[in-house]
Amino acid sequence: MNSQVDVLAIAAHRDDVEQTCGGTLLHSAAIGLRTAILDLTQGEAGTRGSAAERAEEAEKAAGLLNVGWRQALDLPDGRVENTWENRLKIVRVLRELRPRVVILPYWQARHPDHATASTLGYEACFVAGLAKVETGAPPHRPFKIVYASLYADLRPSFVVDISSYVERRFAALMAYRSQYENQAPGGTLFVPQEEIREKTLALARHYGILGGVRYAEPFVQKEVGLIEDLTLIPVQSI
Ligand SMILES: [Zn+2]
Repeated sequence: MNSQVDVLAIAAHRDDVEQTCGGTLLHSAAIGLRTAILDLTQGEAGTRGSAAERAEEAEKAAGLLNVGWRQALDLPDGRVENTWENRLKIVRVLRELRPRVVILPYWQARHPDHATASTLGYEACFVAGLAKVETGAPPHRPFKIVYASLYADLRPSFVVDISSYVERRFAALMAYRSQYENQAPGGTLFVPQEEIREKTLALARHYGILGGVRYAEPFVQKEVGLIEDLTLIPVQSI
């Protein structure tokens, strides 16, 4: 077998993937692709909940997203750094799972962990292909890297139709009860479930409109698109 999974989503924190590309993972699983999630941190720095609680929640969310494999590395939460050691931790996972596609966070972000996870993930994908970097497993370089750009204010390269999956994606996000359950204390940092729901649907609707569908998730790719048949290019112009 050439690869253990088809699509691997890498993100800094448990619940990042649920917010930025959970619908795409659900759709990928629905069309028969094998999907996986690698969270770089365990969530010990969160204002609410413990790392152990978040581990349970992440497992539940993975089940809702029909993901076959999910693990968290032990990078310090709030201090994700692009070091050789951290790259090697990701390289070991890449060589074990051998994904064809890797989804990374977009490289500019408000949260430094998100931005660093992007460059760290990219460099790990590069290093994973170097035969002379020995980890006990054969080298592997993903064919494609795409960047989940939901929280970046820019025009995506493409969007994925998630119209059939928005409810399940929201349920996966709400599996993080320690983070999102309605609670009086906690100030403005934690918004009630209804507001989160409205925001996630509004964003998905915005990107859906760009793609001519109801709900969608946006991605950026650094490469240009390559077209075989002009008559099959989706998204109507006028
Ligand atoms: Zn995050």
